[in-house]
Amino acid sequence: DIRPVTRALISVSDKTGLIPFAAALSKAGVQLISTGGTAKALAEAGLSVMDVAELTGFPEMMDGRVKTLHPRVHGGILAVRADAGHQASLAEHAILPIDLVVVNLYPFEATIAKGADFETAIENIDIGGPSMIRGAAKNHTDVAVVVDAADYAAVTGEIELHGGTTLALRRRLAQTAYARTAAYDAAISNWFAGELKLAAPAYRAVGGRLCEELRYGENPHQSAAFYATGEARPGVASARQVQGKQLSFNNINDTNAAFECVAEFDPARTAAVVIVKHANPCGVAEAASLDDAYRKALACDPVSAFGGIIAVNRPLDAAAARAMTEIFTEVIIAPDASEEAIALIAAKKNLRLLLTGGLPDPEAPGLDIRSVAGGLLVQGRDVARVDAMDLKVVTRRAPSARELADLRFAFRVAKHVKSNTIVYARDLATVGIGAGQMSRVDAARIAARKAQDAAEAAGLADPLTKGSVVASDAFFPFADGLLVAAEAGATAVIQPGGSMRDQEVIAAADAAGLAMVFTGVRHFKH
Ligand code: 5GP
Repeated sequence: DIRPVTRALISVSDKTGLIPFAAALSKAGVQLISTGGTAKALAEAGLSVMDVAELTGFPEMMDGRVKTLHPRVHGGILAVRADAGHQASLAEHAILPIDLVVVNLYPFEATIAKGADFETAIENIDIGGPSMIRGAAKNHTDVAVVVDAADYAAVTGEIELHGGTTLALRRRLAQTAYARTAAYDAAISNWFAGELKLAAPAYRAVGGRLCEELRYGENPHQSAAFYATGEARPGVASARQVQGKQLSFNNINDTNAAFECVAEFDPARTAAVVIVKHANPCGVAEAASLDDAYRKALACDPVSAFGGIIAVNRPLDAAAARAMTEIFTEVIIAPDASEEAIALIAAKKNLRLLLTGGLPDPEAPGLDIRSVAGGLLVQGRDVARVDAMDLKVVTRRAPSARELADLRFAFRVAKHVKSNTIVYARDLATVGIGAGQMSRVDAARIAARKAQDAAEAAGLADPLTKGSVVASDAFFPFADGLLVAAEAGATAVIQPGGSMRDQEVIAAADAAGLAMVFTGVRHFKH
């Protein structure tokens, strides 16, 4: 299954590594055929190369839109060597078989990333390149296709060793080739959707660029990879890792959860810190400084915070960095960090520090994707924010200004906690978080129980839920969850409302002297 390489068609926009690769092919006796720019580069390097225009008998035309789209090219790529009929066609039309296709495409993704105008983007859609790549990959029984300079060495290595390419390599290269054309077309389609302001997930091609193969997935027996979608939101995908070992699958997921949550807090208004464990916040706080916010967030659940991930909404300063290095933490993610903070973190070798240059806009549209058996479920990101919600007081007592500030804070956090969610908050810090329970009443109980534990560990007389407020990510279907919160000492409640039993829940709140507001918007997160 070795196929000798007699003739190679090379047409590359990115000429990285081209010359040594082509020189090695030439040395092995391979005839080189190239399009204009590539042929020029090869000739300048002293290599002998045939211009594709000479092969086709047609000049490149229409600003390069038509260069290689010709039967002399595509027939040479697609002809099956073992098929007598195909061989007869080659002979009849004087088409020479092509054994190796080396193409990288017009840089469409890089062009739009630079903010190119509509016409420039359109002109950077490669037509002949993907056609040759797809044809060569289809005919991998006879033809090798290379779309990535990282594979140049594998091809020359096999030619040196075997005098041609092996079927195993040609198959692997064919797989890589289709991954490339699929990602390329997804990028074009998504750019179009953006230009046309089609935000609905139904208009998005789900695709990304492989940026890293991960050591394993959620568990060591699961394989995993990280894809970048090219979306311009600062975050874990675009962060600069200042120090620490490679991020794991769970680290990336948890770090994202922490950073998306902390981005809800406008850095111009307040400093905020989020500590995450297993993709759920276990402590969130705002304060005048990151240092204070961190201590308040940590006090919520110091047991869970061990080995957690910390996100901050302002540049990390020395005081906060010093506090954060007191216990074991996996990752810190921040928009930026002072020199002094970086030096303090450096003392903890394994602690990963990620700097992003900014916060992800919580209102920017985007996709949320998960897989189900046989499919992908795609939805728009939850961009609803409590600031824009019309809060309606439904109880006899209206919340005080202090309660209202805490209610908004608690609902802001609840958006980033797995459902069913109950968040107790006091003085702009979480004091009890119930996450991911199958019943809302259990979430309320667990959050209260955790607050009790934290208070006992800190030697406090009362749990911090006493005098707190409580947020529920979705409506209370019965009064029971609300009563648990009242018993834990909460004085005010924020929830979407909309249950069949709202009146019963409101009556229970009134009877317990609670103030309650409805948001009209829920924040399920499963
Ligand atoms: P060069 O720098 O050699 O002039 O052009 C190389 C680029 O042209 C490659 O990215 C290749 O994919 C692309 N290309 C090759 N043939 C065609 C064609 O027929 N039409 C278009 N639009 N692009 C082509």
